[in-house]
Amino acid sequence: TVGRIVKALSGYYFVVPEGQETNGSFTPIQCRARGIFKKRGESPLVGDRVRYGTTENGEGTVDAILPRSSELVRPQVANIDLAVLVFSVTEPTLNLQLLDKFLVHIEHAGIPTALCLSKADLAEEGPDSEEAQIAMDAVKRIYEPLGYAVYTTSSRQNGGIESLRDRLQGHLAVFAGQSGVGKSSLLNALVPGLELETSAISNRLGRGKHTTRHVELIQVGGGFVADTPGFSQLDFVELGIEELGSCFKEMRELAGSCKFRGCTHIHEPECAVRDALAEGKIESTRYEHYKLFMAEMKEKKRRY
Ligand code: GDP
Ligand code: ZN
Repeated sequence: TVGRIVKALSGYYFVVPEGQETNGSFTPIQCRARGIFKKRGESPLVGDRVRYGTTENGEGTVDAILPRSSELVRPQVANIDLAVLVFSVTEPTLNLQLLDKFLVHIEHAGIPTALCLSKADLAEEGPDSEEAQIAMDAVKRIYEPLGYAVYTTSSRQNGGIESLRDRLQGHLAVFAGQSGVGKSSLLNALVPGLELETSAISNRLGRGKHTTRHVELIQVGGGFVADTPGFSQLDFVELGIEELGSCFKEMRELAGSCKFRGCTHIHEPECAVRDALAEGKIESTRYEHYKLFMAEMKEKKRRY
């Protein structure tokens, strides 16, 4: 039988049979991995689709790992096929530079992405509602034309939750975003009965609330979400400077039209990206962030 590993703990792998995903109350089967994996230096990961068998005592054995479609190092989850980037419209203030940094990494990993603007109620009322509304409009204006779907949600008012839940059907998603943007609250709103701990930003000092937990998949209707702080801290360690341009969708599409192969779109003549920028076809904030990330990467390279 084929199933999905939803949790790994003290040498056990907890498997949900394929077809049972929609039944959130299903108790996963506790399995040991066959010795063969160890001999091959392989180990099953949370997110893996596996072939497993059951033993007399109600436990099971993982017999084979089915081919992975993706494998993230951090969080260490196999087969993630959707990244939901969560940014709150305010509290904390929406930071487009950080948003682009997350996008670069997710594009680099080649994972389809959706954007979620959380705490939308704060754009309706509250001291920062005006600023929040402007941030919300900017994200839609810049990112929707690039092909990123933008979901607007309020966990507090249960707004926009249905459409996000629909998007998750049949996927294994990871929620990524800064601490305090409302990821846990969002999961609680998405999954009736789930009671993840949430906390105000002012209560978080030092160690985050997630630090001691390990990755576990949460069933959301017919899909899974990796319950993890995700890539909340990102840096450019594994990304090569020459790869940066390809992580900006609009630049990747234009790069073939630049005069020089390997054009960095910064100083070369007859650059299609800079032409598009001059014509207002590329958003200036995106290009500015590209230049900034490039400079950061060069600086990092120089130091090591
Ligand atoms: P996480 O660190 O990303 O998991 O964020 P949490 O879910 O712990 O939420 C951080 C803070 O934001 C908490 O104080 C929540 O009450 C608050 N929060 C979460 N969702 C919403 C929302 O939809 N509206 C408002 N106004 N506050 C929210
Ligand atoms: Zn160029």
